[in-house]
Amino acid sequence: MTDWTAFDRPEVRAGFAATAGESCQVLIALDGIHCSACAARAERLLAGQAESVSVNLAARTLSFRFKPQQKPLSVLLRALDEAGLQPRVLAREDAGAREVRERRRAFARIGVATICAMQVMMLAWPSYFGVQPEPAIAQLLRWAQLVVAAPGVLWAGWPFFEGAWRAARGRALDMNGPVALALAIAFGASAWRTVAGSGDLYFDSATMFVWFLAVGRYLESRTRARAGEHLRLLAGRRALTAQRRVATGLETVAIGQLRPGDVAVVAPGDAVPADGVLLEQPLELDESLLTGESQAVLRHPGEPVLAGAINVGAAPLALQVGRCGADTVLAQITQLMNRAHICKPRLQQIADRIAGHFVAAVLLLAGLGYALALHRGASQDAALGIVLAVLVASCPCALSLAVPAALAAATSRLARSGVLVANAGALQALAAIDTVLFDKTGTLTRTEMKLQRVIPLAGLDEQSCTAIAAALEHGSRHPIATAFAGIAAAAADELRQAAGAGVSGRVDGQHYWLGAAEHAPCPVRLPETQPGETLVVLCGAERALACFVLSANLRPEVPALVEELERRRLSLELQSGDAPATVQALAQRLGIERYAARQTPQAKLQRLQQLQAGGGRVLAIGDGVNDAPLLAAADVSAAMPHGAALAQSRADLLLLGDSLAPVTLALDVSHAVQRRIRENLLWALGYNLLVLPLAMSGHLPPWLAAAGMSLSSVVVVANALRLDAVVPRRAPTPALAVVEQR
Ligand code: ADP
Ligand code: MG
Repeated sequence: MTDWTAFDRPEVRAGFAATAGESCQVLIALDGIHCSACAARAERLLAGQAESVSVNLAARTLSFRFKPQQKPLSVLLRALDEAGLQPRVLAREDAGAREVRERRRAFARIGVATICAMQVMMLAWPSYFGVQPEPAIAQLLRWAQLVVAAPGVLWAGWPFFEGAWRAARGRALDMNGPVALALAIAFGASAWRTVAGSGDLYFDSATMFVWFLAVGRYLESRTRARAGEHLRLLAGRRALTAQRRVATGLETVAIGQLRPGDVAVVAPGDAVPADGVLLEQPLELDESLLTGESQAVLRHPGEPVLAGAINVGAAPLALQVGRCGADTVLAQITQLMNRAHICKPRLQQIADRIAGHFVAAVLLLAGLGYALALHRGASQDAALGIVLAVLVASCPCALSLAVPAALAAATSRLARSGVLVANAGALQALAAIDTVLFDKTGTLTRTEMKLQRVIPLAGLDEQSCTAIAAALEHGSRHPIATAFAGIAAAAADELRQAAGAGVSGRVDGQHYWLGAAEHAPCPVRLPETQPGETLVVLCGAERALACFVLSANLRPEVPALVEELERRRLSLELQSGDAPATVQALAQRLGIERYAARQTPQAKLQRLQQLQAGGGRVLAIGDGVNDAPLLAAADVSAAMPHGAALAQSRADLLLLGDSLAPVTLALDVSHAVQRRIRENLLWALGYNLLVLPLAMSGHLPPWLAAAGMSLSSVVVVANALRLDAVVPRRAPTPALAVVEQR
């Protein structure tokens, strides 16, 4: 059992807890909760010991506040651990704090805009009814409007000026341009007329415009932040434990416990937990999370290795820890978030392009409207009113919100059900898929495997064979390793892992190999097995020493999921590295007609490419290092949360809840997103095209333009938020599946 006391040390605590006065707020992952009953158990366990305990079942997290002086955290963690809830401490991210600060400021701007807009309207109301106060009073009211409107336009509207300035410096046009221009003209002209003492004022329109825009922006950033929170959670999850080499072998520690000088061991497929120096042997590393470079790079002993790089070599990586702690974890988190934002979905790119041209056209039209009005003999006042109306009415706010609002709402909807969208573009691609490729071990079957029988083949007894196997599997992330998890093992070195084949290494000076019989280095006579059992062989230098018969349970939600996917006319395929009999048994049980066994990572990839060459759009779901090439090349990919980090880094979707059930929800949401985006774009473009002629011909006063524009954005956001309410058409429920499984 883990030693939790390290988490009581204040310097360790600083890496994961937010301290406010005497209490600390912590977010931890609970891998052991599966249903609301477990969640309730966790809450009960902490009741009375901690405050404001709340469990998020979809994300499998628990957040609570506690007072370190009264109750050490280790006591709470141990209680959860002993109850089998598998707590894991997550890093605190400072980015979150910054977002909170920004959101607070945005809220303050809305407050100021509200007050100013209301006050300006009160002061302007006589003019609404054509009331003409005495000249002195009228002038006083004008000055009062100027004073009240100034903070409302200049401070509350500051982000728009800033944005326009930034865009202009980058020689780009975005929606901030016309907004800032409209605000500047409205405020500038009104201020000038206040000083001059005559002419129409637009202070009311300007403050109202700012108010609508600020509210729209706030709503949008809320949706986006909610989606981002879950993404960070994932990153925090991934890199928080590490394997440290100690005299007796390896121990699993929290990243916060790693110290400079420690030697950390990173299994093939896992992420490097800290910055440091490579030891022992040259290895290939995938640094795409850090550099975006997808080619693996070969690093030699003595060379620096960065946290977040993934070990794609065949052997465990030994790392002399240099810098560690929050810095490096954060770097990884940021990269992961960037990855999600860099790949802008196609429709978004189109919308951005349109918006740029649109803004240019709007500016031209505003100028044209001004010239035409003067030409028709309208007053300067009326002409300026037309410019304002055109700028405001055609502001492409709704247009630029159309895609991101829909994607953010969809991301947040899926996150609530434990599906993390790492690449928003994939949401749209998902709607077009026609084939689903499944991996077997760890994906259709549970991550945990059981050792059923040991069959010694060459005189070495059962116990020694098992101990050697356990030593070889130490540090492996393959589900097969879980079958040997609790077994006392000697230390092994020269460990190597061949994805989809097996592991090898040296135990007590002897060389051993463990894996699939087909890949065994020596001939093996296989024993009889039941359908559904997986067999691995342990070989010594010349002879096979033992067979291990392992079993893995089907995930309970799988039969119903397969049925549902087939009902949707998707073609299903099973691609496994396991033996033919095992794969066939499972495929037949599920009614999957196309399946292939003994597939190497390359073979899986080839099958995918064959499907794609035939015009197929493929969703690939996998968990292991052997699935990474497949996941990277698939049109859309999903990964299981307990598999290799490498697989996860290649996936568009992460099934955080360790269940395949939300796959159908993701499909539903992807179809809905497609519809919402189309509706939004159509509406936004249609609205702008409709009101533009009205504004140009002087039939739309600026204040009405502001109201209409804002309403149009609200329509777009509200339409997007309908995605939040998508429920799976027919969710495969575990309960149903259990009956089938018997
Ligand atoms: P799947 O594609 O079904 O997930 P894998 O490709 O991961 O299966 O594994 C295929 C086969 O390779 C396994 O059935 C096992 O025989 C062997 N193998 C892979 N990794 C290991 C390991 N760490 N230990 C022992 N055998 C392994
Ligand atoms: Mg697998």
